[in-house]
Amino acid sequence: MTAKRTHVVVIGGGYAGALAANHLRLRDDVDITLVNPRPQFVERIRLHQLVAGSGEATVDYDTLLGDGVRLVVDTATRIDTASRTVALASGDTVGYDYVIYAVGSTGAVPDSVPGAAEFAYPIAEFELAQRLRAALNELHISAPVTVVGAGLTGTETAAELAEQGRNVTLVCGGRLLPSLSERGQRSAAKWLRKRGVKVLESDVVTEVRPDAVVFADGAVRPSAVTVWTAGFGVPALAAASGLRTDALGRLLTDETLTSVDDPRIIAAGDCASPSATPLRMSCQSATQLGPQAANTVLSRIAGTEPALMRYGFVGSNVSLGRRAAVIQFARQDDTAVRYYVAGRLGAAIKEFVCKGTVWGLRLEARRPGSSFWFKGGPRPEQPAHTGVASVR
Ligand SMILES: Cc1cc2nc3c(=O)[nH]c(=O)nc-3n(C[C@H](O)[C@H](O)[C@H](O)COP(=O)(O)OP(=O)(O)OC[C@H]3O[C@@H](n4cnc5c(N)ncnc54)[C@H](O)[C@@H]3O)c2cc1C
Repeated sequence: MTAKRTHVVVIGGGYAGALAANHLRLRDDVDITLVNPRPQFVERIRLHQLVAGSGEATVDYDTLLGDGVRLVVDTATRIDTASRTVALASGDTVGYDYVIYAVGSTGAVPDSVPGAAEFAYPIAEFELAQRLRAALNELHISAPVTVVGAGLTGTETAAELAEQGRNVTLVCGGRLLPSLSERGQRSAAKWLRKRGVKVLESDVVTEVRPDAVVFADGAVRPSAVTVWTAGFGVPALAAASGLRTDALGRLLTDETLTSVDDPRIIAAGDCASPSATPLRMSCQSATQLGPQAANTVLSRIAGTEPALMRYGFVGSNVSLGRRAAVIQFARQDDTAVRYYVAGRLGAAIKEFVCKGTVWGLRLEARRPGSSFWFKGGPRPEQPAHTGVASVR
């Protein structure tokens, strides 16, 4: 008699999904299918480099996934919890015992800003970044480029383009790098000023035209390409599958990362909303949640109680071109402290962190169970959703 095998479908092969797929190999009676739209892993944290032409942002899955993880290059269009199948854009379906929902996040351009959807370029997804790179390649180096949004992504993008010698305006809509300490902000502002980036702190873009941006006070500034980095969305798959989500569309889960609607669906990364109190969308949290989502599945298979998720932040880092960065340290709840590292040492740390995410994936592929996560980030009082039925 052959022992029963369990089939886990991981939807999304980003940081959280690829780590989860590799971590599931801790059991050898689990069949693992990873569904991802592209045959290559996208290092989203390098998309600004792809855009500026200062680096690439893809890695072959062959070097990242452990033996036995089956990669299906396709897009999930619906999870049918009644028949326990995932429908794919190709028309195929895949059956599952468990799903790990790790579809990540997307760029988002607001409908409320006229012209933004038509003329602005989001950067947060691979194909969008490629499109932006092509648009920039058509431009003369001195043509005005506007980056809207001065969070980590917008500032990294503005800096990378400025280092290429481009004429960049960064529109903050409030404050430059609001999540950094004042000292960290000043350090980044100084670098940007030196490289000729025009930082418009309190200005807000209210309209995007093909060749200009319009500000709240009516001022019009020429902009040959406008990059939109203000805001992220998430894929609509959970909502399209009838699963409950938070207002943005992240899958609502309990503190074991299990969907509040279905104990066979477990979420990780940017698309997860545990107790409707999601972590900051980041590679840093995705790499901590991915293996823990896999552990929840492994516990269910073993018939044991899944552990509550744990995490901690150590800080955030913003690259300023290839030779500088600000590494901002933070408390475990992600609030910045006054300490930071800047300049070349900062750039070396940032590059080490970026390489470290890929090394971490390879290590988990070779030795499942190698991933670690921090403990101590604050979580809401209610530990696990009481409405989650157990798996039969
Ligand atoms: C330019 C830039 C710089 C960044 N820098 C940093 C940084 O320095 N530090 C940091 O912590 N974070 C950074 N981030 C954020 C970080 O990249 C994300 O938070 C992280 O990628 C989230 O990981 P994830 O695994 O949840 O999702 P992702 O990495 O987005 O992976 C999700 C995967 O799921 C796939 N997918 C989506 N829908 C479907 C579907 N229906 N079917 C199948 N597959 C699907 C996607 O195509 C993707 O491959 C940066 C982001 C950007 C854009």
